[in-house]
Amino acid sequence: MWPSFSLNRPLVWLGLAALTAASLLPLLPLRLAALSLVVLGLLDAWRQIRREHQRRRLSEQALELSQDGMMISDADNRIVTVNPAFTQITGYTLEEIRGMDPSALSSGRQDKAFYDRYWQTLKTTGRWEGEIWNQRKHGDQYPEWLRVQAWHDPKGRVTHYVGLFTDISRHKAREQDLRRIGFEDPLTGLPNRRRLHDLLASRLRHLRAGEGLDLALIDIDGFKAINDSLGVDSGDRLLARFGQRLAAQVAGGIVGRLGGDEFLVIRTTTFDDHEKWVSSLRQHLSEPFEIEGSSLRLGLTIGSCRAPEDGREANVLFQRLESALYSAKRHGRNHDRRFRPSLEVESDRHLTILNELRQALAQGSQLEVYYQTQHRLDDGEMVGMEALLRWHHPDYGMVPPTEFIPLAERHGLMPALGGWVIDQVVAQISLWRGKGLGVLPVWVNLSALQLIQGDLESRLLSTLRQYRVPTPLLGLELTESVLLDERAGDISPRLEALRREGLQIAIDDFGTGYSSMAYLKRLPVDKLKLDREFIRALPHDNADAAITSAVLAMAQGLNLDVIAEGVETTEQRDFLLARGCRHVQGYLYARPQPASAVEARLRQIEVPALS
Ligand code: C2E
Ligand code: MG
Ligand code: MG
Repeated sequence: MWPSFSLNRPLVWLGLAALTAASLLPLLPLRLAALSLVVLGLLDAWRQIRREHQRRRLSEQALELSQDGMMISDADNRIVTVNPAFTQITGYTLEEIRGMDPSALSSGRQDKAFYDRYWQTLKTTGRWEGEIWNQRKHGDQYPEWLRVQAWHDPKGRVTHYVGLFTDISRHKAREQDLRRIGFEDPLTGLPNRRRLHDLLASRLRHLRAGEGLDLALIDIDGFKAINDSLGVDSGDRLLARFGQRLAAQVAGGIVGRLGGDEFLVIRTTTFDDHEKWVSSLRQHLSEPFEIEGSSLRLGLTIGSCRAPEDGREANVLFQRLESALYSAKRHGRNHDRRFRPSLEVESDRHLTILNELRQALAQGSQLEVYYQTQHRLDDGEMVGMEALLRWHHPDYGMVPPTEFIPLAERHGLMPALGGWVIDQVVAQISLWRGKGLGVLPVWVNLSALQLIQGDLESRLLSTLRQYRVPTPLLGLELTESVLLDERAGDISPRLEALRREGLQIAIDDFGTGYSSMAYLKRLPVDKLKLDREFIRALPHDNADAAITSAVLAMAQGLNLDVIAEGVETTEQRDFLLARGCRHVQGYLYARPQPASAVEARLRQIEVPALS
């Protein structure tokens, strides 16, 4: 193809004029002068042609180098030329594709309406840009980003279409990966919370008459303790295996991980055998898991519900599952609970109670600290007492702490409430000391939030200092779940520091959690409080008798003191005494009672006063 050159240049015009003049001029010198102008004009034209030629070569080479495919078609949309990238992407050479309509590349994924819009835009605006799926010579389909521009002649008629496109199949694959990451739990490969939500919504939309959904939210009991004792990697492996086993169990259903140790299972059914289904899940999952050579049997807490009976919207069902799970947890580990509407009524009642508790705390008059004495087993001597919070509600009477403390914990009221108890107790000790009574250590219960929020240590120490109460007179009871609460960070150094100040530490409700012996050994504590669950059926229940004996033997080995809680009978007392238990607390000795009642007992005993 010959390059064109512009006539819009003065030297060319001058040359042309000089050519005519050279033939007409009479004198030789003048003719020669005119001829030299002709030569100048020719040279200029030649230079221009060369430059134009170079420019074209350059743009052709650039197009050859380009990674983008290029295709030029004529006004009838027949392909005129393509660049090497076109061949590389589509697999067609220029010879194979020349003269064909670009629709030869079409994948068929876009319908006629799409192409109608394409042509309409191209005709009205002269350009089109967008994503389009085409087909390579070998048949596989790929997405490309296409930009098409119409070229016009000076009269405005279309002469050519130039199309430039980028193969975006790699981007697309990445996009898909990203999408998968957003929807998939990377640890187990199962759907994550977001995806589960969508899947549930879709199942709900497609429920046919007579069909229902069973939903179960499963939480592994004490998973943090497992993580702590086996290590995070093994914990992760356990979660992955757990997910796999669950998925194998509910073929055709949906299994996903909501996060942490919570899994959701959904299945479509035609009749309601919900309870049976939940217990079959539990049974299947309670088979031991082999991790790192040890065989682990897991405790599970399950909240469940059914659709459409318990809700027709994913959001509602998620909420109901959580309130069922929460309610199951409140009943202890290894429990199931199916959602009941009363759970929601319960949560309304909870909010009312919480508001009233806030007011009670602000006024202080309805709250009172009771004291339950603790005794030496061999001679019944009083050795200490536990401070237990009481709430005298004006309408309901005494509200048990088991009801309002978890509520205060959940709604962030516990640091204030626990702080109030500590102040009361320290003030009471100081009062007794002021009266010249020998005072025994008083143990207060600490909740997780007290450790997580606020500066518990400095508050404790400054209160003790303010009332001039020696630190050994205050003991702290922490349950295993508090000790294992990861939000409180590594608890050992904090306990160690408190003990250095002279305070004593006990593990409350020991035996109900999942602390491993390895973990216990590392913890700086003085005492274990054996939970009253194990004491209740003593001495007749063989399992409880074995557990109690084992805990006592183990504590001796670790040089830890043990106090048995909830001792109500002489038989229980005798059994404990025979197994080497030294301290007890329970109704057999005393119920929790107001400070004034304990004061009367304190007057009867002689305790060496601490300075
Ligand atoms: P806990 O710390 O394990 O307290 C022992 C519970 O066992 C007390 O129940 C006590 O009254 C009860 N108990 C003691 N001896 C016997 C017995 O022989 N038989 C029976 N059946 N029960 C006995 P209470 O006072 O209802 O407290 C329940 C729980 O509430 C406590 O369990 C503790 O976890 C929590 N709590 C109470 N006061 C406070 C507090 O000030 N702060 C915190 N964080 N928790 C508290
Ligand atoms: Mg306690
Ligand atoms: Mg206890």
